[in-house]
Amino acid sequence: MQTVKERTRAGLLVAALVFIGIGAGVLYGAQRLITDARLVAHSNEVIGRLDELEARLRDAESAQRAYILTGRVDYLADYRNSREHVPALVGSVADLVADNRSQAALARQLRAQTEIRLHQMTNTLLRNESDGLPGARAAMGGEVFETSSTIRSIKAQMTEAESTLLERRAASTANSANVLRAIAVLGIPIGLAVTLGVYMLLVREIARRAAAEDEAREVQARLREGNAELEHRSGDLRALSRYGSMLQSCVDPDEALQLTIRMLSTLRPGTAGTLYRMRNSQDHAEAALHWGEHRAASAESMQPESCWALRRDQPHLSPDAAQSHCPHVSAVAHAGVATACIPLSAQGTQLGLLYLSDDDDGFLSRIDIIEAAAEQLSMALSNLSLRERLRLQSIRDPLTGLFNRRYLEESATRELARCERRGLPLSLLMLDIDHFKAFNDVHGHAGGDALLAQFGKLLAEHSRGEDIACRYGGEEFTLILPEAPAEAALQRAAEICMAVEAMRVEHMGRELPRVTVSIGAATFPANGNTPEVLMRAADEALYRAKHEGRNRVVPATPV
Ligand code: GH3
Ligand code: MG
Ligand code: MG
Repeated sequence: MQTVKERTRAGLLVAALVFIGIGAGVLYGAQRLITDARLVAHSNEVIGRLDELEARLRDAESAQRAYILTGRVDYLADYRNSREHVPALVGSVADLVADNRSQAALARQLRAQTEIRLHQMTNTLLRNESDGLPGARAAMGGEVFETSSTIRSIKAQMTEAESTLLERRAASTANSANVLRAIAVLGIPIGLAVTLGVYMLLVREIARRAAAEDEAREVQARLREGNAELEHRSGDLRALSRYGSMLQSCVDPDEALQLTIRMLSTLRPGTAGTLYRMRNSQDHAEAALHWGEHRAASAESMQPESCWALRRDQPHLSPDAAQSHCPHVSAVAHAGVATACIPLSAQGTQLGLLYLSDDDDGFLSRIDIIEAAAEQLSMALSNLSLRERLRLQSIRDPLTGLFNRRYLEESATRELARCERRGLPLSLLMLDIDHFKAFNDVHGHAGGDALLAQFGKLLAEHSRGEDIACRYGGEEFTLILPEAPAEAALQRAAEICMAVEAMRVEHMGRELPRVTVSIGAATFPANGNTPEVLMRAADEALYRAKHEGRNRVVPATPV
């Protein structure tokens, strides 16, 4: 297919050729007109000379006759004057027709006959001189008439030939004029049409270029937009990856949630959000954290059924909050508020919900980053709760809910070091249920477990926040009382003894008999300065308590 450029070039070439053709035609026509005009003038000159020659001859004859008849010398002067011109005229006619063979031949005859005629005239005058009028009349006899007729005939032939030439030249001139007219009538419109065509092509080309430039500008603008979007995205991805790696280092769910709102409020500054956490019972999600100001508020607490995202376990995006259909989203006064509910779930467990609202739905177009963040958060929450469960499992005794012996040893060392650093005392109670073997024997192992569980609860109730209540093993327990001096520890031990006496345990629908507990108490620094020494001292005190009759508190003996 020809391009516009090629067509324009071809059009210009055609236009140039047409105009060159017109120019050449005009030149040719004009040249022919000039040539014809010159030839016409030539023929006219020939005819004119012939006429003049005839006239001069006639004038010479008339003047001669008048002179012979009247004898007046001025006629003779006229005669001489006229005949003097004749040879030059004959020469000029011969010169003029030299290029025309037939005319040249006639011109030669004309010259010969004219010379004869001039000779006859001379002869006539001589006879007139010698013999007078009768002599002259005799001299103007038959020969003279013949010669004159021949001259007239030659002249007529030559004039006829020139007239024919004139006619032919007139036709040629008309032809040339026709050619010029044709050039004007056809060439100019064709040239104009081609020029117009080229002009149209150029106009179209210019329009096409303008359109192409517009398109290029549009493409450029799109490219710029694309670049900006790309930059934005890569910024988002960087933030997301940084968030992900920080999330890995969070030690508890609260820290993970705080990190999440910091990240989201930086990533989408105009968008408000709420993070909900699902209760362990899975029957309610409760708002844990808010940021920004919601354009469409959401309930503080909701059942999973009141959110489409939680129901379907997939993001629920609403460019128009009025169309959200999520009952937990409050009605909005004005249109154009967009909301997004993104469920937080991992390993088939719902962990919560991320709710976002904005008065511009632009954030929905890049919701994938937020969804990815929500997924990472879900994974992190799931991992943290698993870790927490494992940690609790590893430090708690499942029957009583108290700390286990491993944790006891670990925390006793830590707490003792802390109190030692701060110059504070630390007390330790060793507790052993009295006659538990017998209890077990009577009420069975399950009855014994029920008692142990209840005892664990009681011990927890008699502990302060900083105290550490542990099941040491079997029916033996330890209570670490950081910062408690011996008196306070003995006081607490006494309270526990009394509380155990009053403790009621139900098992299999009936109340089990009451039990008692013996307690040995040791205090740092009086009874030792390592956990082992302190525990041994408390154990010895407990041993003494058993020996002294059980259901009592015995302090360790100072070292
Ligand atoms: P004392 O007053 O001297 O402490 O007498 P006691 O019977 O309590 O002494 P002993 O230490 O001999 O008995 C402890 C019993 O506790 C032995 C064991 O059968 C029982 N026991 C240990 N662990 C558990 C447990 O987890 N559950 C139940 N039900 N019994 C346990
Ligand atoms: Mg025991
Ligand atoms: Mg016992």
